[in-house]
Amino acid sequence: MRRVILVLVAACVFIGVAWLIYRLPGSVSATVGPYTFSAGSPVAVLTAIVVFAVLYILLRIIVVLISTPRRLRRRRAVRRRRVGDVAVTRALVALAAGDTGDARREAGRARKLLGDTAQTLLLAAEAGRLAGREDEAEVAFRKLSARPDAAFLGLRGLLRQAMERENWAEASALARQAEAAHPATVWLRQERAVLAIRTNNWVDALHLADADAPKAALAAAAAAQATNPAQGIRLARQAWKEDRTLPAAALAYAAKLRADGRESRAQTILRESWQAKPHPDIAASFMSSLRDAPSRYAAAQRLTKNTLRDVESRLVLARAALEAGKVEDARFHAAAARATGLNQRRLWLLLADIAEAESGDTEAGRLAQRDALRHSTLAEQDPIWRCSACGTSSTGWQPVCPACGKIGTLRWGAAPVSVSTALASQTAA
Ligand SMILES: [Zn+2]
Repeated sequence: MRRVILVLVAACVFIGVAWLIYRLPGSVSATVGPYTFSAGSPVAVLTAIVVFAVLYILLRIIVVLISTPRRLRRRRAVRRRRVGDVAVTRALVALAAGDTGDARREAGRARKLLGDTAQTLLLAAEAGRLAGREDEAEVAFRKLSARPDAAFLGLRGLLRQAMERENWAEASALARQAEAAHPATVWLRQERAVLAIRTNNWVDALHLADADAPKAALAAAAAAQATNPAQGIRLARQAWKEDRTLPAAALAYAAKLRADGRESRAQTILRESWQAKPHPDIAASFMSSLRDAPSRYAAAQRLTKNTLRDVESRLVLARAALEAGKVEDARFHAAAARATGLNQRRLWLLLADIAEAESGDTEAGRLAQRDALRHSTLAEQDPIWRCSACGTSSTGWQPVCPACGKIGTLRWGAAPVSVSTALASQTAA
């Protein structure tokens, strides 16, 4: 209904305008050179309208002709963009599904349609990695790393590749570049921590360790590595405060204090750690500054006076007493260790030495030594360092398990009893 009304209104306006033109009075004349044109006003107005309409149509045709190539290019670009986006989506789906062939094909297609954008380069690199084409991935990552807007993505990929190749020098350089491109990222911090551990850079490893990391182990290793004395003492103190039962921490702290001329403080640290958890290396360090055997025995007595119930104290006292010529004391402490049920090789070797010192080169002495040495071959192994995570044994303490790579998992304790040792012990008994 509204359309009908509009048509009627338009018709009325048209008729009104036509009527007005038709009723226009006067005439229009124009002289061009020798020619003179003359027409009535309605004809002149109509002619002007027709001329204007023709000029307008011609102008529009020219504009369309000029803009057509550009419009066609734009339309093609839109179409390429649309098809390229579809290829990007398909490549992402293939990557998520682990479909190697599709991922590489669609990533290549996306790159062809959309060019080397950050997205298409990253897709091509990841598809290459998925297909095991590390060379192909590396080329794409390098192109990415050269782009100011996506350098971090490229460096991240190159860093991952370098770490997988265990090329630690290249990985360290890439980590520094990635840090400069995008500072303080959680992922990069974790990667740098792994890198520091793999390259035995304990100062960095401690600095980059997260809150749950065993700081005592890292700080003890970092202290041993530190070249600056003040930094060494600070790191060793940190390690010792974190875990006083860790012999490496006490030993590192004592060594740094001694290097600083603070022997008394070093002995206090070693004594406190011994009381927290006795370990032969702590006793050895405690007595290391003393040269004569009687002084060493006296030092052993000072160290162990509050821990006589511990078998390590008895063993340290027995060995120091023997070296000082106090054979009866040595026998007493060894017997006290034996009374706790200790049946380790080191005890029987100590008893053999005591027997030699007691009886010398006599028949009884040789018999006692032979008996002790026979027991030593059948006894349990001495305590060793073992990884609490994977069970691998190690000759000495290390901040990281060489087998499973876990930090601070090495514990000093009894060696696992093998079946042959257990049977031998039963037979000997
Ligand atoms: Zn392990």
